[in-house]
Amino acid sequence: MRVLVVEDEARLARALQRGLSAEGYAVDLAADGPSGLEAARHGEYDAVVLDIMLPGLSGYRVVRALRDEGHWVPVLMLSAKDGEYDQADGLDAGADDYLTKPFSFVVLLAKLRALLRRGAPERPAILAAGSLSLDPATRRVTREETEITLTAREFALLEYLMRHADQVVTKIELLDHVWDAAADLDPNVVEVYVGYLRRKIDVPFDRRCLQTVRGAGYRLESRG
Ligand code: CA
Repeated sequence: MRVLVVEDEARLARALQRGLSAEGYAVDLAADGPSGLEAARHGEYDAVVLDIMLPGLSGYRVVRALRDEGHWVPVLMLSAKDGEYDQADGLDAGADDYLTKPFSFVVLLAKLRALLRRGAPERPAILAAGSLSLDPATRRVTREETEITLTAREFALLEYLMRHADQVVTKIELLDHVWDAAADLDPNVVEVYVGYLRRKIDVPFDRRCLQTVRGAGYRLESRG
């Protein structure tokens, strides 16, 4: 099994390389974001251990770029901060698991083994609701063959609504799944983002597929 470790703290990188090599892994190191991305793109790795705070390009951006390009190598993110927010952002960006520094090497090994057992995830299927389509792999959204540009949060919101098309989804459910409940946000933020989304997916196309169900939440109509 070949593992890429992208970590700019030289001592930690070397310790990981020693430890993983002792466990029988082939280990390559990259010390910044751009070289990590380049190596992960071309290296045929079985897994990538990826620090978040990196020179040049953050771990979030590295994993997002890999996923956008269709690389599904399992990624274990190393987070310096222990905010659940960061972890949610990492998973949002396409990481498979995360570990908060400082961590125990035994836990890292266990997580890595679990990721390797699982292997690279299948490319997710394209979601559709009428003329609206969303590709979780390439993160492209189109309506009537027109490409729609969404922010990461708008994309996550639309993806959740499309996965639950024709069901009433509450604001609290959306906060939990799209924002991470730990962030302790005002539920009205959902309303604001639903508004942004409508202005991109419905209004320009003279549609009303994203419905407000008064007192209950929202429903995305699968007929589009
Ligand atoms: Ca770092």
